Amino acid sequence: MGKRRRSRRRGTKWEKKYRRTKEGMEQTLLSRREIDDNGCWLWTGFTRRGYGRIMWKQKVHDVHRVAAHIWLGFDLDSDLWVLHKNDCNRRCFNPNHLHIGTRADNERDLRQRRRN
Ligand SMILES: [Zn+2]
Repeated sequence: MGKRRRSRRRGTKWEKKYRRTKEGMEQTLLSRREIDDNGCWLWTGFTRRGYGRIMWKQKVHDVHRVAAHIWLGFDLDSDLWVLHKNDCNRRCFNPNHLHIGTRADNERDLRQRRRN
């Protein structure tokens, strides 16, 4: 895109049109889910390494992190991780199946999962 657009930080027509609101994003997520027998909300959009990925505010995010932001009040800029329940699919973004933890929590979960 042109230099002019990039130099103006906020309030341009272009940004208003393309920056999706939290409500808009919620609708987008809900329109691309498939609910499985576990009650998992499986993302049907673009994925990478098994995780749903989505563009928001000109950045690419993990779908489950965006879901935690919308429904659990998670800060997207946080260093914390959004983790899945043990039996969950990576594409799942059901907020009831997510919890917020540290990198160490994630490694512990993975170890436990390997043992099962
Ligand atoms: Zn799930």
